[in-house]
Amino acid sequence: VSSAWPERAIQGVTEAARRPSAPVMRSEAERTLLAYPDLGLPSLRHGIVVFKDVPPGADYPAWAGLAGGYLRSHLLPAAERVVIPCQVHSSRIIDADGPVETMPVGDGVVTGLPLTAIGISVSDCVPLLAVDIDRGVIGLAHCGWRGIAGGVVEEFVERLEVKGAEPAGTVFLIGAAIGPCCYEVGPDLLDCFRPEEVREHSRSAGRGVVFDLKGVVASRLIASGATRGRISVDNTCTSCQKYVLSSYRADGRDCGRMLAFLMLTGSS
Ligand SMILES: [Zn+2]
Repeated sequence: VSSAWPERAIQGVTEAARRPSAPVMRSEAERTLLAYPDLGLPSLRHGIVVFKDVPPGADYPAWAGLAGGYLRSHLLPAAERVVIPCQVHSSRIIDADGPVETMPVGDGVVTGLPLTAIGISVSDCVPLLAVDIDRGVIGLAHCGWRGIAGGVVEEFVERLEVKGAEPAGTVFLIGAAIGPCCYEVGPDLLDCFRPEEVREHSRSAGRGVVFDLKGVVASRLIASGATRGRISVDNTCTSCQKYVLSSYRADGRDCGRMLAFLMLTGSS
């Protein structure tokens, strides 16, 4: 079953660099799985799996074990390794191909090795998927407001480049995350961003201000050398779709988690 979800796009918040990419949703092994036609390549496995039954407060070794176990047993049985970092809203990116600690701390992960599965988790924060299929480099980043303000997008692009990816040739997919329809923020948060970003990606709504995190990520990707036409954005809002997806803002600790994953298969 596939469905393009209705969008509650807010007019006026920039749509710059947005090539809308509606996910195909299906149920696999009792969990909802989002897949994106833009990343449907024979030599790549990708998706975002929804774990409604895991509270975001679940501590990291347990959560990473559960998520990694699910990937191995249900979605990526061929995986030789699974690397899921312990996320701390930083800009630190893990290179999955070197010696990796049992529980690496960071908010992004890159690899150039086939059969190395990587994952990052989100519930409202922006999952950023990067694929340079010609050069065999993939990566994932967890982009919440704190991480974005701290430079996680820029660091991520740089680390992809170090692995051999060309930013201009890389496909970036900005996955399902909280949308400007539901992301009301205060002045303290906006103060952490550049004035031009606040101008372009926020707008008054009701008595408050809403902010477009996906738009900020897209702008920062372009400023880092990504090609406008290779950035796709899933406009699905996790808060609007909280019954199916996972929204910390909407449901708090019991919202569950979403795991974005990527793996090169090594075949074409
Ligand atoms: Zn919404």
